[in-house]
Amino acid sequence: MNIQWYPGHMTKARRMMQEDIKLIDIVIELVDARLPLASKNPDIDDLAKGKARLILLNKSDMADPKYTKLWESYFKAKGFFVLQINARTGAGMKAVTGVVNEACKEKIERDRRRGIKNRPIRAMIVGIPNVGKSTFINSYAGKACTKTGNKPGVTKGKQWIKLNKNVELLDTPGILWPKFEDQAVGQKLAISGSIKDDILNITELAMKLADYMSKNYPGTMASRYGIEESDDSVKVLADIAIAKCCLMKGGEPNIDKAASMLIDDFRSLRLGKVTLEQPPQSEEE
Ligand code: GDP
Repeated sequence: MNIQWYPGHMTKARRMMQEDIKLIDIVIELVDARLPLASKNPDIDDLAKGKARLILLNKSDMADPKYTKLWESYFKAKGFFVLQINARTGAGMKAVTGVVNEACKEKIERDRRRGIKNRPIRAMIVGIPNVGKSTFINSYAGKACTKTGNKPGVTKGKQWIKLNKNVELLDTPGILWPKFEDQAVGQKLAISGSIKDDILNITELAMKLADYMSKNYPGTMASRYGIEESDDSVKVLADIAIAKCCLMKGGEPNIDKAASMLIDDFRSLRLGKVTLEQPPQSEEE
């Protein structure tokens, strides 16, 4: 989790992706099911124009299933193919190839009409850092995969992983960067552990989380820490500190320590499966 982003990196990543996208038929985009919009970069819509699109709601094992379902409908309504997966265990991934074929049906038909047979569908994985791209590629391609060598017209060093006789996957994922300039986006990514939290104040993050929990998951704080529910997030952190005996020398509650504990409990699912953002209700966001 040591990724530092500088404008130079971003420009280079974008340029590389622009080149790679020319070679492919379908863009498979991984987003974090706990924060599907914050873990997305809207630039991809522009970059992937004209390509088939599949959105994978990854880390679905950590997200609230109720909202993951709503997110699935949300993206489907926008014309994307969508699947819920867990790249770590492989759950939900059996369906990927079928959906890739379905999403590329038009291309296959077009090829057939032109008399082109057996041209494989080419796919590429894209997503922000830490969303699970490498885990997905390793788990999807498995051990049995055969890597095809460099082909003419393919950027040097790039390889295609032959998934089956119909589908090939570019072995290097495209990296997108999140919308850091949006503070709420940065906060959600930091709470989820996808970006280093030392750029942001952990106590501030914990206050955001406590606030979100009391509004959206009432009862969780009470059952986890045995504290009273409150919409005053400083009080919640102080109560956690007292309940967990995180006290300073003078006996004052150690708010910062309670904050770290809360964030850690969230990331380790000790607060349950929590989704940090919910799909917008209306079509106009
Ligand atoms: P990349 O930067 O997009 O290539 O992300 P990685 O593949 O390195 O994954 C980042 C972290 O997320 C690793 O610790 C993975 O084990 C973890 N991870 C990836 N997919 C999942 C998933 O579906 N569920 C869970 N719980 N963890 C995952």
